[in-house]
Amino acid sequence: MAIATINPATGELVQQFEPLSDAEVTAKLDLAEEAFADYRLTSFELKSNFLNAAADILEQEKADFAKLMTLEMGKTYKSAIAEVEKCAIVCRYYAESAPGFLADSYVETDATKSYIKYQPLGIILAVMPWNFPFWQVFRFAAPALMAGNVGLLKHASNVPQCALAIEDIFHRAGFPQGVFQTLLVGAAKVKDLINDHRVMAATLTGSEPAGMSLASAAGNQIKKVVLELGGSDPFIVLASADLEVAATTAVASRMLNNGQSCIAAKRFIVEDAIASQFEQLLLEKFQNLKVGDPMLPDTDIGPLATANILQEIDQQVQNAVNKGAKVLIGGSTATCEDASLAKGNFYSPTIISNISPDNPVAKEEFFGPVAMLFPVPDIDAAIKLANDTPFGLAASAWTTDSHQQQRLINEIEAGAVFINTMVKSDPRLPFGGIKRSGYGRELSIQGIHEFVNIKTVWVK
Ligand code: NAP
Repeated sequence: MAIATINPATGELVQQFEPLSDAEVTAKLDLAEEAFADYRLTSFELKSNFLNAAADILEQEKADFAKLMTLEMGKTYKSAIAEVEKCAIVCRYYAESAPGFLADSYVETDATKSYIKYQPLGIILAVMPWNFPFWQVFRFAAPALMAGNVGLLKHASNVPQCALAIEDIFHRAGFPQGVFQTLLVGAAKVKDLINDHRVMAATLTGSEPAGMSLASAAGNQIKKVVLELGGSDPFIVLASADLEVAATTAVASRMLNNGQSCIAAKRFIVEDAIASQFEQLLLEKFQNLKVGDPMLPDTDIGPLATANILQEIDQQVQNAVNKGAKVLIGGSTATCEDASLAKGNFYSPTIISNISPDNPVAKEEFFGPVAMLFPVPDIDAAIKLANDTPFGLAASAWTTDSHQQQRLINEIEAGAVFINTMVKSDPRLPFGGIKRSGYGRELSIQGIHEFVNIKTVWVK
């Protein structure tokens, strides 16, 4: 895959980049190694100052960064602004919390003194996806850099300008040269990076094949990995739910990031008693969605990030239909009125129903604006279906009955359960999945502890 900015709204090739040569990659690894030698000893106070300065830059220049994201991967400009603001929040959160999260922790034993000490590991490789081109990187980098590690970013090949802009932010914020570097390289180079003895650990957010490939390379080198992979999150609506609020939230959650979010609700599992009412509400709301230019404030859904993704989504919907599914709305590429968008990757908001358990799409992830509807007789069937997936990222469940809420919290197999609201990430709470959604956690105290040496100290 070429490293290039291709505007997904118009299909125009904006800028192409030469991948780094092997010698250039080696020079960056050398620089990272050199930087770590000093940076690992930097005080929390100084690191917090750098990270707060990065937050200031993000806030002051959010319009430019948001435009860049919209240009490279098509998210709506208004959602891109919100993404930059959230990056500033995660920087400030770790600037303030990291010293406490990483303070020596004393434990009573028969030693004179025994405690747990947290030390940085060294160079951490981050392989990141295009869908939240800033947020995914900052939620890795803020804790990793506060812990005293240095970061190497291999970003998705379709967001090179975002990748370079992020490196520039950390540099301008005062982080020493080499503490955070972007490597413009293709996916095929990741294995070599993992094999380099100076790279101590890696984190990957992306697809299952990418996760498997990185984890097996790291396994061969006995290196720690965090994987944030795909999801097909259930959105369960039981009879007592406030249907209007649930349906509005269902649309927001499914259409997050033009439908391209790992924690977007993807399978709508609805109790029979209210299934037709909920379907009707969902249909009305889907009909009102505006697909078009992602820069315009009234656009709900912009283009999919690449032409390939558009083709894949269309094919997936066709496959579903060939196996008996019914399209209630959408089901095809979308045409925008604006002629300049004729070559954009637009897909119609789509609802499919009548999906039998043996229809392969029932267990797949739709990474675009496609909702799957599943009516079920009761909560037992809802939980069974929710768990009948290879993934286990998160779930949203709607009921006012406290007993049902408790069952959903206890019985759903996922890294997170949100009751009566949509799933979202929050720096204060851990984020990550189980099953084929990956392992390890980002954010909160758990996130910063992923890439440190948790050292036991015993003094007699
Ligand atoms: P992707 O194709 O796996 O790409 C993600 C990153 O991995 C890119 O930097 C890509 O580089 C690289 N990559 C691809 N193949 C690789 C390989 N064999 N070895 C090493 N690196 C490789 O995924 P995507 O299409 O960008 O993202 C969509 C997926 O990410 C969805 O499944 C979504 O659910 C998941 N996701 C998960 C989370 C989470 O937190 N759980 C968050 C966001 C997205 P190139 O671009 O150069 O190919």
